[in-house]
Amino acid sequence: MATNDKGSSNTTTTDNDGTTAKPNIAFIGLGNMGGPMAENLLKAGYTLSVYDLSAEATARLQQAGANIANSPKDAAQNAQVVISMLPAGKHVHSVYLGEDRSKGLLADLPKGTLVIDSSTIAAADARKVAEAASKLGIDFLDAPVSGGTGGAIAGTLTFIVGGSDDAFAKAEPILAVMGKNIFHAGEHGAGQVAKICNNMLLGILMAGTAEAINLGVKNGLDPKVLSDIMLQSSGRNWTLEVYNPYPQVMENVPSSNGYQGGFMSKLMQKDLNLAMQTAQDTNVETPMGAKATELYAAHTVENGDRDFSSIMARYDSSVLS
Ligand code: NAD
Repeated sequence: MATNDKGSSNTTTTDNDGTTAKPNIAFIGLGNMGGPMAENLLKAGYTLSVYDLSAEATARLQQAGANIANSPKDAAQNAQVVISMLPAGKHVHSVYLGEDRSKGLLADLPKGTLVIDSSTIAAADARKVAEAASKLGIDFLDAPVSGGTGGAIAGTLTFIVGGSDDAFAKAEPILAVMGKNIFHAGEHGAGQVAKICNNMLLGILMAGTAEAINLGVKNGLDPKVLSDIMLQSSGRNWTLEVYNPYPQVMENVPSSNGYQGGFMSKLMQKDLNLAMQTAQDTNVETPMGAKATELYAAHTVENGDRDFSSIMARYDSSVLS
């Protein structure tokens, strides 16, 4: 498909027997999240051509049955749908718009291609790509996710989508393979805005929960007893339910595994920075978000690769020993 004579693409085709064939998918970015998401699409019978800068990441997908491409353009050959799961806005811009905004993948896609970017990036960055895509007759959706690596592996992610109704309708069956809850938040960029509102709240809740547990522990309480009490009281929240930040209060969470795996503190910091940037651009006050951003900024200096629940160590450094 990535030729000069770009023609046009249709995200659904019809087989001879009248059934709707699955579109071919190009998947770009096969890290902690993108890797398992792509594997779930393969398991569901989609044909995938994949690309990542890391040979290790592509090797895993090759074993799972994907075709390995040498570039985003190569991956998009014969694809009606392109999905990306990249670290940050600069990577998304570089793939779709190119370094100088003229040689990116968008320029090689035929009209009617559906592009779904699931990376968490600034809404303004997503709107820039959407605008460039729209000028070329390409449907773009920002579709960031919530649910972490566990959700990516289990195919139970929450997708928070921004873009047109038509593009959303085309994307829904594909997203349903990788996720359980699929929300259409609004127009281009709305998915990213909803995502950073959620993650700002999550950062505040995680830091607040760590702070409360530390206050109790330093005043003689057992962290599990205190957590159980708060879980059945008005301080109850998601972190206490499934992601307690204090070691050994819960099994199978990063805090009970040296804060390895999960959602890295540096990614939480990136999301908090995106929330602060959005608040500043739109003149909205976010004092709690600002405090959480300050805490995570200090924490990531030494602990950026640890799970974000390791913010517990800001209050009690012994949890890292
Ligand atoms: P990751 O660093 O594990 O994976 C990113 C992948 O993109 C890497 O394999 C990297 O080699 C590849 N890459 C970078 N630049 C590229 C390029 N130009 N072309 C092709 N490949 C390129 O990150 P992740 O944890 O998978 O996160 C991806 C996105 O999902 C981020 O925006 C993150 O904020 C978001 N997210 C992560 C989680 C989580 O729990 N990890 C949860 C929700 C959302």
